[in-house]
Amino acid sequence: MVGNNPGYAPKVQHKIKKIDVHLVSHPITGGFADATRKVETIGYTIVRITTDQGLEGIGVTYHEVGGEATRALILNNMAPKLIGRDPLETEAIWQEFFHYLRGVGRKGLMYCALSAIDIALWDLKGKIVNLPLYRLLGGNQTKAPVYASGGWTSYDDDQLVDEMKGMVARGFSFIKFKVGVEGGTNPRRDAERVRKVREAVGPEIKLLLDANNCWDAATAIQAANRVREYDIFLFEEPVFADDIPGLARFKRGTDIPLGTGEHEYTKFGVRDLVAAEAVDILQVDGARVGGITEMLKASAIAQAFNIKFAPHAMENIHLHLVAALPNSLFLERLLMFEEVTAHVFKNAPVPVDGYMHIPDLPGLGLELDMDFVNDNDDARKLGSA
Ligand SMILES: [Mg+2]
Repeated sequence: MVGNNPGYAPKVQHKIKKIDVHLVSHPITGGFADATRKVETIGYTIVRITTDQGLEGIGVTYHEVGGEATRALILNNMAPKLIGRDPLETEAIWQEFFHYLRGVGRKGLMYCALSAIDIALWDLKGKIVNLPLYRLLGGNQTKAPVYASGGWTSYDDDQLVDEMKGMVARGFSFIKFKVGVEGGTNPRRDAERVRKVREAVGPEIKLLLDANNCWDAATAIQAANRVREYDIFLFEEPVFADDIPGLARFKRGTDIPLGTGEHEYTKFGVRDLVAAEAVDILQVDGARVGGITEMLKASAIAQAFNIKFAPHAMENIHLHLVAALPNSLFLERLLMFEEVTAHVFKNAPVPVDGYMHIPDLPGLGLELDMDFVNDNDDARKLGSA
């Protein structure tokens, strides 16, 4: 324990003094839909943890729905347990919350809340020792590859092709779009769209497809084999995320690599995917799975099975992990999030030639635009803050 031996204590000891939570929502007006749902709102749930020495750590999770509940859980039930604690105790704090809250959630919003807190603690840890997070994790790379992600099933074919060509024009060589048009009822049309994109972008660009949970295994295998000739780099969530036997069956039915994991929580969820041979490219999300603490364990499980690690979304947080961890493949940049991200952070990195560069700053290296965050905090807009 820090403090038992003063020789090993940091020069300045920090205690957590204050926790703030902001909800910044962003309406999606374009009628974006994937195979299984329409996206109406996106947004960041932002946690700021301040110490008695005046340092602040930033963590985020995000919400299409349920941000208010995540905020209430953090403020009412978790923040009181953090006051007075040493922010370096990330592992101990994670374990305490795991047991404190296990009866009300072992997946879902509870882990969104814990993820945001854990990310803020790791940001603080980097600031306390004055190192960027990737250095603290033992990495030596200062940039990471990133792919562009969009291509909604609600687009007509021309909109889809235009967006994909736009990604390539911006320097991305890995691009992802949705399949499962017409609610997943028309894989023949999906194959037609894949053909059009392949013809438009040429043979060198890597194509990734995302079916967003829409099929059963038999249909998904048929759909994958229909597009096999277009050289697909990754096929994502072809069946319902909890249909782990179905994912394993998909893998046996096609040689296109299977990406999944964005809907999985904790090391135990990762264990189940890996043990069932139901994943080739692990796409867990640090803002859901349990923060940096749990992402390190997820990556380690994948390493032991020679499985690639490619975190879902939240590229500004995952940048340090993908730069530092040896089985990392790339980051995902959702075009849908670009506008709100550019407003929320003053200095969020922008991809250049398919790479994101780590800010040369301690911790995550991100600076919030607090004018924007305060002006757009849902609580303030509702008159309750
Ligand atoms: Mg996805």
